[in-house]
Amino acid sequence: MSLETKNARRKLITWYEENKRALPWRRSRDPYRIWISEVMLQQTTVTAVIPYYEKFLTRFPTVKSLATASVGEVIEMWAGLGYYSRARNLHKAAQVLAQKGFFNNAAELLELPGFGPYTSRAVASLAFGEPVGVLDGNVIRVLTRYYGLKLKWWEKKEKQPLQDLSDALANTEKSSEVNQGLMELGATICTPQRPLCLMCPWNKECVAFNKGITQLLPLSKPKQQFQMWNWTLNPLIKNDQIFMQPNTATPFLKNMMFPAGKAEITFKKPTAYDIKHGVTKYDIFIKIEKASLKSMGPGEWVPLSQVKKINPTSLMSKILKFIEK
Ligand code: SF4
Repeated sequence: MSLETKNARRKLITWYEENKRALPWRRSRDPYRIWISEVMLQQTTVTAVIPYYEKFLTRFPTVKSLATASVGEVIEMWAGLGYYSRARNLHKAAQVLAQKGFFNNAAELLELPGFGPYTSRAVASLAFGEPVGVLDGNVIRVLTRYYGLKLKWWEKKEKQPLQDLSDALANTEKSSEVNQGLMELGATICTPQRPLCLMCPWNKECVAFNKGITQLLPLSKPKQQFQMWNWTLNPLIKNDQIFMQPNTATPFLKNMMFPAGKAEITFKKPTAYDIKHGVTKYDIFIKIEKASLKSMGPGEWVPLSQVKKINPTSLMSKILKFIEK
């Protein structure tokens, strides 16, 4: 290992230990708590996550309590965080972990639903001290600037050198501190706009700072192409109950319970629609049409007052509002 890596690591750990924020999931090395916090943090900021995290952990304090809950309860506790497939995956992975015990390494964790390279490595190093490096948006920003790398980090081949650098830094018994230090540096000092380089423990060696090119790094990922979808829904309501079934018609909000319907991709914005909604890279145009029970397929009747429990998405709220008009 190079002297440069050793020095960078030492400075980073010292800085982290002196500057780390007191966050609820840093109070213990419980892998379950770390896992939940990491998944929640992929969706929003630390400040926004804290109340969700505390509410979720109060309801599901252990991996076993999460595993034995119904998927509906898990989704209900996830309401407001979006990306409901993550809540489903948490539930599925908890069932494996409750039965087999918590895996203590990234390779095994990676096999579980919802555990990508980042989450597996974060949990393995933060909870168990496995010497593996993490790579998320914050870490990519810090490393590309520090080493002055103009990499197309969104392409697998060009991301690998960054993963290697992160692994080299974390190759120590203090991998947890290194990884958290990198994430913390990215979140609080090496921010996307106007990084606070004068307060950075790495400013002496940082290539981007010394060349005055911090605003040019990391390279910007090309904008995602938006996709438009027409989604025709046929809500059937009888005796204050609505017929709902798992959505298999679209690549977004998959398996969430919705009224029956059909969907297709479109290349032209429709002229007539009832609801417009956006989910990540999808613009969705919804048409509400009359239902006929014959064409419904398998599903279940849900009291209108309970719909938000099984589908807390903002889209379902819009649909209910439209129906009730
Ligand atoms: S010196 Fe500035 S650009 Fe370099 S790592 Fe530190 S905060 Fe980021």
